[in-house]
Amino acid sequence: MLKKVLIANRGEIALRILRACKELGIKTVAVHSTADESLKHVLLADETICIGKASATESYLNIPRIIAAAEVTNADAIHPGYGFLAENASFADAVERSGFIFIGPKADTINLMGDKVSAIKSMKAAGVPCVPGSDGPVGDDEVANKATAKRIGYPIIVKAAGGGGGRGMRVVRNEAELTASIAMTKGEAGAAFGNDMVYMEKFLENPRHVEIQVLADGQGNAIHLGERDCSMQRRHQKVVEEAPAPSISKEMRAKIGARCCQACIEIGYRGAGTFEFLFEDGEFYFIEMNTRIQVEHPVSEMITGIDLIKEQLRIADGQKLSITQDQVQVRGHAIECRINAEDPDTFIPSPGKINLFHSPGGLGVRWDSHIYTDYSVPPFYDSMIGKLITYGETREVAIARMRHALDELVIGGIKTNIPLQKRIMADENFAKGGANIHYLEKKLGLGGH
Ligand code: ADP
Repeated sequence: MLKKVLIANRGEIALRILRACKELGIKTVAVHSTADESLKHVLLADETICIGKASATESYLNIPRIIAAAEVTNADAIHPGYGFLAENASFADAVERSGFIFIGPKADTINLMGDKVSAIKSMKAAGVPCVPGSDGPVGDDEVANKATAKRIGYPIIVKAAGGGGGRGMRVVRNEAELTASIAMTKGEAGAAFGNDMVYMEKFLENPRHVEIQVLADGQGNAIHLGERDCSMQRRHQKVVEEAPAPSISKEMRAKIGARCCQACIEIGYRGAGTFEFLFEDGEFYFIEMNTRIQVEHPVSEMITGIDLIKEQLRIADGQKLSITQDQVQVRGHAIECRINAEDPDTFIPSPGKINLFHSPGGLGVRWDSHIYTDYSVPPFYDSMIGKLITYGETREVAIARMRHALDELVIGGIKTNIPLQKRIMADENFAKGGANIHYLEKKLGLGGH
């Protein structure tokens, strides 16, 4: 088994990785910025190295410094977590070329899936259902573009091939807007992602976001852990996630899951991954693949009993998958509320010192977070400070547990989105299940674009 893992991340996911390593008897190296000396996993790790200043480019995004830290500590492998360098093919390549194991897929796979145009092409070839679209990049020929958009049928969405984080896309409702919209999206994509390639897709008006979790060993074996519904979004950012997705039958899950597993085998996928779909009128439409562990992975763990991080570590160690698809049983229901240090009404980040903290507990309550009393949330990084996950034999039980767990959770000294999460958990349409991706912004009166 791997002996020592360097955790190239911070916050709750770094702690989550540390815990999985400890369970497997793997030593841990925490790298951190000058702003993160008192992070919980840094205090718990076997070895720690300060790799630079608070700014992420000086630390968590600095490839040479992270590799140097792995060399100094003699680590075997590097876990990138999510965000930062997790989907950076150059990083995966540099890690492997320096003689370390990258806990994730091969750099080539990250490249293939990182470009949404090539991702869609390979998924189509593997039989994964995709959104009708331009089937390739949009060029400069106005007439040809208009013909493509007409064939797809308005409204369409122009999306950046290299986009991420819900940025780099624009809805076009009629032909008159098309040429200018393409030019604007191209300009923004070039500036934001260093790649101005854009493509077109049918814009689905009222879809849900349903995604499939997979595990593949890169040795010809792949399984799926069912789906998650992440339709509760604000500005394309997920706020609440749950598993299984309301109204997805066993048969639908088995069918789409098998397609994803087949695609994993065809592209030689290795590690944990997620196929993201829009789901409308009973049909799945692939939008992208995330080649890393995701924030919302705990809900899949809760309903399957499979520890995804431990599986990532085993796969990185070169082991074959020890779980077969038949052994994956979806049982009960799990919900995750992201807890952010931000104003619940304006969404403005609220860093600062936490002067009072009480975590919730009890049967079916999981709290994945690095915060503690007197911990200061730095202003330099993402505002997510924890994830509250509840499990129950039914969706109703999971919601009831989430309501009281949110009541028990006390975070003093900074503003958090706990009041917003309480509103969502009290909302009768959320309780019904199956709301679409616009629900949160529209019905709860939250600002959209
Ligand atoms: P990113 O990589 O930036 O997250 P995605 O391709 O995953 O981009 O899309 C993010 C979100 O944008 C989706 O969850 C959905 O809300 C919206 N979206 C993307 N493509 C479409 C589409 N074809 N129709 C409707 N909404 C879309």
